[in-house]
Amino acid sequence: MSNIQQIDNTYIAHTYARFPVQLVKGKGSLVWDENGKEYIDLGSGIAVNGFGISDDAWLEAVTEQLKKLPHSSNLYYTEPCARLAQMLCERTGMKRVFFGNSGAEANECLIKAARKYAAEKHGPDCYTIVTLRNSFHGRTLTTLSATGQDHYHELYQPLTPGFAHIAPGDMDSLKALAATTKIAAVLIECVQGEGGVVPLDRAFTDALAQFCAENDVLLAVDEVQTGNGRSGQLYAYMCYDLKPDIVSTAKGLGGGLPIGACLLGEKVQDVFAPGDHGSTFGGNPAACAGGVSILGRTDEALLAGVRERSAYIFDALTGAPGVEAVNGLGLMIGIKTVKPAREVVAKCIENGVLCLTAKDRVRLLPALNIPMDQLKKAVAVLRAACGE
Ligand SMILES: *Cc1c(COP(=O)(O)O)cnc(C)c1O
Repeated sequence: MSNIQQIDNTYIAHTYARFPVQLVKGKGSLVWDENGKEYIDLGSGIAVNGFGISDDAWLEAVTEQLKKLPHSSNLYYTEPCARLAQMLCERTGMKRVFFGNSGAEANECLIKAARKYAAEKHGPDCYTIVTLRNSFHGRTLTTLSATGQDHYHELYQPLTPGFAHIAPGDMDSLKALAATTKIAAVLIECVQGEGGVVPLDRAFTDALAQFCAENDVLLAVDEVQTGNGRSGQLYAYMCYDLKPDIVSTAKGLGGGLPIGACLLGEKVQDVFAPGDHGSTFGGNPAACAGGVSILGRTDEALLAGVRERSAYIFDALTGAPGVEAVNGLGLMIGIKTVKPAREVVAKCIENGVLCLTAKDRVRLLPALNIPMDQLKKAVAVLRAACGE
């Protein structure tokens, strides 16, 4: 174990089960450890480095902004923040944006917007937000309460009240709940990322959308992981033809810097007044300048490349030795392996490929523009690791 790994183990809270790899630099989809060993990166820092590590145009946009004005607070106007919000709204049809610094913070805003809207419109007893079992919405106490996985809840009682969970597909439970409880919003991930990369069924999302429209319930979509091109469309809800009232996103939006965004649709666009919500770092000019660079280049050509790379991975791994199933959407892929996922990932690290896990699956979240030759090489390593 290296000196840095020892210092980290001594001084960093033990919330992460790190792999024994110390990374020092990266470029595109390649990354190097402290011994100079090269890896092909199929994790992108958990869907953050969407254009690869230190992408040239992103780096220039961020560096220019860092030289001019790295931070200003939200007391003043800055161009990158305004431009990124404009781009997000023009590309989605949403009306306004609140910027924070993480996925959890984007979801906190989403929850606050839904609660305030519903209380004002339907009365103070209309606050329940329905989420799905096996979902993941963040690690703040309230987003943890939204998360539909009991094991995240056990250590942190009492949780924020006002959340109910139904199984994906279970419209009957939703309707039964609606008969006794006022529902403010339904919050979904179109593909449950941390839950094992499980896409929702189209029939279910159609039924949910209809339920929300008929009952004046807000439809909210967590695009923290699925968003910003990863699904093969700009946002995964577009693959499902949904028209959400609120969308949260983060991870890939900043291209490598912390950012989160809550997109408010027509119904909720005016829900917040000055003082109702805020964030010191939210809308940070450097992070937003990076976001403008990333979103501006997340065009149809890039998205077609995502779909092409996705098809390649599905073809190469479906039915391969040691592979039980391949699931996902775009470049968000979960692989059920015969061997424990963590063993497969460790074997891949040994052979120069970084991939992730989600529940009992190996999870791939490569850069959206990973060069095909690197992708092929990495998938061959992974395929071998599954089959050995
Ligand atoms: C990662 C993730 C979050 C939490 O994002 P943080 O930036 O870690 O706070 C929330 N929702 C989904 C779907 C995620 O994948």
